[in-house]
Amino acid sequence: MAEPAEDKEDFAEASSVAPRNRDPPALMSQTAPEKKRNAFAELMSPKPKAAKSDASDTKPHRSLKSLSPWKGALLDYIKHPEQFPDQVLRVTPNTVLIKDSFPKATVHLLLLPRSPEHYGLHPHDAFKDLEFLAMMKEEAASAARIAAAELGRQLSPFSATSKARNEAMDAGVPFDDLPPGRDYLPDIRIGIHAHPSMAHLHVHIISRDMHSDRLKHRKHYNSFNTSFFIPVADYPLADDDERRRTSFQNANLSRDFVCWRCKKVFGNRFAELKRHLEEEFESWKKE
Ligand SMILES: [Zn+2]
Ligand SMILES: [Zn+2]
Repeated sequence: MAEPAEDKEDFAEASSVAPRNRDPPALMSQTAPEKKRNAFAELMSPKPKAAKSDASDTKPHRSLKSLSPWKGALLDYIKHPEQFPDQVLRVTPNTVLIKDSFPKATVHLLLLPRSPEHYGLHPHDAFKDLEFLAMMKEEAASAARIAAAELGRQLSPFSATSKARNEAMDAGVPFDDLPPGRDYLPDIRIGIHAHPSMAHLHVHIISRDMHSDRLKHRKHYNSFNTSFFIPVADYPLADDDERRRTSFQNANLSRDFVCWRCKKVFGNRFAELKRHLEEEFESWKKE
């Protein structure tokens, strides 16, 4: 099957920047809420130029043994999250939440299930297990709140909606008395790619802006802005859902570009789309 969503080149690059500490610190957290601040601190911390990872450390899951290294790259995070303190935001008994090494938007996280019975499956198959699906939806929802908080941290200084709140904060108004600011949660999307090119199941938690210098190719944009991106909320998919069809999904990747915000059509003019996304980002963040 064609697996056009993510780039081999991205992953070659990913494994070369992945930090691999010789003295791994303790896991960041086992439960989400009380450690949220640590997750933010991690999001805020600068990405170190780390040593090349040692691929021989990896013991691939039996059924995934034949994978090329980039394709199986997510397994390291599942098996050894403590070795990636700069990328891992949260570890729960069920999932590992990481920052995408090649963010295609202002905030871009990946939620990885830890269960070996599920992590090697295509999402269509894994999500047939309704108990597993419910767990992933719940953990993705809390990951989205982390992503929204990070988006707010980066963008609220520019936000008209948050202006009164920012001013009150500067004036020393107690936290509980602050006026509400912009809610960034609706700007966070949760979904999977119809044909994921990385072998291990991962859910994208991504801000909608598509503003990133990592957004370099047509398929990068269309894989998040057509039906190729399937919201996790839409699972379980009906058997006859057209999004299951490979031909439908391949066509999505070569579709005309449509701006996520104003719906303007850009044909196949990627450079023009990129300039437009820049303008949209500037006005979106001022909302
Ligand atoms: Zn993906
Ligand atoms: Zn637009």
